[in-house]
Amino acid sequence: MALIVQKYGGTSMGTPERIKNVARRVAKFKAQGHDIVVVVSAMSGETNRLIALAKEIQANPDPRELDVIISTGEQVTIGLLAMALKDIGLDAVSYTGSQVRILTDSAFTKARIQEIDDANMRADLAAGRVVIVAGFQGVDGDGNITTLGRGGSDTTGVALAAALKADECQIYTDVDGVYTTDPRVVPEARKLKTITFEEMLEMASLGSKVLQIRSVEFAGKYNVKLRVLSSFQEEGEGTLITFEEESNMEKPVISGIAFNRDEARINVMGVPDKPGIAYQILGPVADANVDVDMIIQNVGQDGSTDFSFTVPKNDMARAIKVLEDVQAHVGARSITGDDKICKVSIVGVGMRSHVGVAATMFRTLAEEGINIQMISTSEIKISVVVEEKYLELAVRVLHKAFGLEMA
Ligand code: ADP
Ligand code: ASP
Ligand code: MG
Repeated sequence: MALIVQKYGGTSMGTPERIKNVARRVAKFKAQGHDIVVVVSAMSGETNRLIALAKEIQANPDPRELDVIISTGEQVTIGLLAMALKDIGLDAVSYTGSQVRILTDSAFTKARIQEIDDANMRADLAAGRVVIVAGFQGVDGDGNITTLGRGGSDTTGVALAAALKADECQIYTDVDGVYTTDPRVVPEARKLKTITFEEMLEMASLGSKVLQIRSVEFAGKYNVKLRVLSSFQEEGEGTLITFEEESNMEKPVISGIAFNRDEARINVMGVPDKPGIAYQILGPVADANVDVDMIIQNVGQDGSTDFSFTVPKNDMARAIKVLEDVQAHVGARSITGDDKICKVSIVGVGMRSHVGVAATMFRTLAEEGINIQMISTSEIKISVVVEEKYLELAVRVLHKAFGLEMA
């Protein structure tokens, strides 16, 4: 008998029929003698609907009130799943994040979990109940409702598994595991039996939304056995996130390809090439709470240089405004933005022991006439920024070039 935390995503909870299907799956595990804690997302589309609704009232929604609104999607699905379980004869109880007391900081819309009170859940499990917890939400020290960022139910699942020292955390979604790349973009993508934490962290941070990055961080930090599986298939081992690299000689150098459509590039042209210039440009951007990702400063010529960096698309206009305010002080000739870009990244621990990976990537893109605007590398990944219209083509040709298709 094991203690298992199961998380079901929005598509898996998307209709009453699907919720009944989740209940049947939970019942199957319960019948095998396991203790089950279920974390659920809102029905698919619901969080987007609530955000759009909020924006109809306030273009820039107040973060505290936005969390009050967008946390409701999960409050509906916990109740529905509890009913579905009771209907098939199981004892179940639903909890919102604040009822459990999933304590977070007060960073509305992107709060971090600080502590979880497991007393109620343990008592319910001991009494034979299935415990159902709303994903994506918590409560801060002052009793305000908070949410954990988009995709945050994954993090609730893993954090509960860590707090309860569960034997396994199972993330049930609409694909049957982690693939070499998004199978909706590349049909030839291959399901991975295992992927290392390091690689999964990179994939998640570079845009593969199959797992929220914080859930992977949590699992790594607290040693949670984490698996991604399909809620639509009866059988299947899914993908296990492992600590150890597989000692498989056949393993390709690259494990996966991630992409991100959510970044925009800002160019600050003709700035004086002198110490402190990067700080003068990026300081105000950071003060405005805009995250900066890739940064390039060109080699200076005639005492002046160009500076480019990427920010989340949603923050581009704000970042440009901030820079225009300091343009005269910085001495920049022009400030422009381009939101028709995307970032494509190849990821693999195999890169450490192989040379020529970057060359293969750049050649493959060049052969398709895809211009690379920016490059950044780390030990196990290479990212490039290209025009957004090339995203699918770039991912597809790289997938092929690195031999990631189905065998
Ligand atoms: P859920 O609602 O269950 O949390 P998400 O939509 O958040 O589901 O995540 C699952 C989706 O992630 C898949 O439908 C797939 O399109 C996408 N995805 C992106 N990259 C990958 C990948 N490498 N492997 C599997 N799925 C991926
Ligand atoms: N419902 C939230 C979202 O759509 C959380 C989640 O699904 O993980 O982002
Ligand atoms: Mg998700």
